[in-house]
Amino acid sequence: MFTRIVYISLLLTLVLQCTTIGFHEKKIRERMEFGEESKFRVCLISEPNITKDEISDLFTAWNEELLYYKLKAEPVLLETLERPGFWGTDILGYLMDRQLTKDCDRLLYLKGRTWGDISFEILTLGIFVGVGLKLEVQGAVEGHTNTRGYIKAKYISTIQMLFTSPNSTLIHEGYHLLGCGHQLFMEECYKRIRDVKLLLTDPNRDPHFFPVITTNGKKILTRPEFLTFPNNE
Ligand SMILES: [Zn+2]
Repeated sequence: MFTRIVYISLLLTLVLQCTTIGFHEKKIRERMEFGEESKFRVCLISEPNITKDEISDLFTAWNEELLYYKLKAEPVLLETLERPGFWGTDILGYLMDRQLTKDCDRLLYLKGRTWGDISFEILTLGIFVGVGLKLEVQGAVEGHTNTRGYIKAKYISTIQMLFTSPNSTLIHEGYHLLGCGHQLFMEECYKRIRDVKLLLTDPNRDPHFFPVITTNGKKILTRPEFLTFPNNE
C-alpha cells in the first residue's frame, strides 16, 4: 500500500497541474502525415450529476481538436459511480485497479461537483487570488500506461472559467491519453501521435485495442489487463 502511495505520488508529479500541453505549430502539423482516419473508444465512469449533454459537449470539443490527427474519440458510458474518494489520487488509484474491458481503449473518470468541492473551490480560489498559488487539480492521467485518467467535468461559472474549462481539460488530458507529455512547442507531441497511429499496423498489436506509447516511450500494443508496478522503467 505504501509503495502504491509513493508510486502514485511520483506519477502525479509528472502529470499534475496541467494547464497547457504546448503551443501549436500549425505549419509543422500540416506537413505531417497522420495516416488514415481512426477511432478509439473512451470508456467513461461518470459521477451521477453529469448530464449526457455535458458529455456530448465535451467529446464534440475534443473531437474537433482530434481532427488534426485524423482521429476520433468515441465515448462509451460504462456506469455512473459516486466518487471513490475526494482527492485526485483516490480516483487514479481506483482507475488503476480497474480492468480495461474489451470495448475500451481508454478509461476516463468524469468528476462532478459536490458541496465538498464547492467549499474546496472557494478555499483554493481564495488562495489563488491571495498568493497566486493554484491548488486545484483539473485532471490527471496515470503515467504507467497512459490509458487511464480523470477530468473535472463541471466547473462553477465564475473566475475559474477564465483560466480553464472542462473542454480544455479534456483536450489536455486527451493528449496524455495519446502518449504526449508536456512541451513548449507541440512538434514532439505530433510525432508521438503519428507514431501511435503507425502502431495500428504493428503485427503484434491486439487488433481490438488502440495502442499507445507512454510518456517514457514504452509501446503498449495490447490492452493492459492489470497494472504491474514498474521494476526498472
Ligand atoms: Zn498535463
